Amino acid sequence: MEIAKIDIDSLAVSRILVVVAHPDDIESWCAGTICRFVDAGKHVCYVLCTSGDKGTSDPTLTFEHVAEMREAEQLEAGSILGVDCVTFLRWPDSEVEATLTLRRELVRQIRIFLPDLVITHDPVPPYRLHPDHRAVGRTTLDAIFPCARDPLTFAEQINKDGLQAHVVPEAWLFATETPDIWIDIATTLPRKIKARLAHTSQHTDAGELESNWRRRAAEVGEAVGLAAAEAFKKVDFR
Ligand SMILES: [Zn+2]
Repeated sequence: MEIAKIDIDSLAVSRILVVVAHPDDIESWCAGTICRFVDAGKHVCYVLCTSGDKGTSDPTLTFEHVAEMREAEQLEAGSILGVDCVTFLRWPDSEVEATLTLRRELVRQIRIFLPDLVITHDPVPPYRLHPDHRAVGRTTLDAIFPCARDPLTFAEQINKDGLQAHVVPEAWLFATETPDIWIDIATTLPRKIKARLAHTSQHTDAGELESNWRRRAAEVGEAVGLAAAEAFKKVDFR
């Protein structure tokens, strides 16, 4: 297995698209890395498949209220990191499936943004996995290869909408059981935590959350001798 500490500043990528299921997925798993890309002058955009409209323990709230609150939190978190754009697809939370409809939409997002790196959920880790994470990770990989690449696939996006077929060279999968690349986030961990704390509806104790995320970053980094890290599985589509 290849084990590599990746130097963000020397990577030949300029456009990074992050595709996730819910508000706070990015801040939980890859915001330290996103921050490194932003600091290096890269162009970063998010696609959120749901707006997390089931993400509350308060039964008096409506789906619409929760979604509105969580979209606002996600926009605030994105602005803390300095990303360029956030797109909400507004699939219903906890009901995302790996359908052709979702794949078509994710192909569209890839053909709009033209990324040279996509970051998303690893769809094949353990038994305890949110079904939306599995569906979004699997469908994003299927959208990258071969669908976004092939001009006759979802050809109306090219013929009618003026988009173009696009090859995404590689994807990085977070929350993976089999990481093979590690990113040093020592300089960006404070901003990752600040962005995670922007999702105020998703925690009650900010101090506990901060200490948990500091400990997790240290545990991930320990495998490769870094003080704080995020880890990914790299998938090569070239
Ligand atoms: Zn999630």
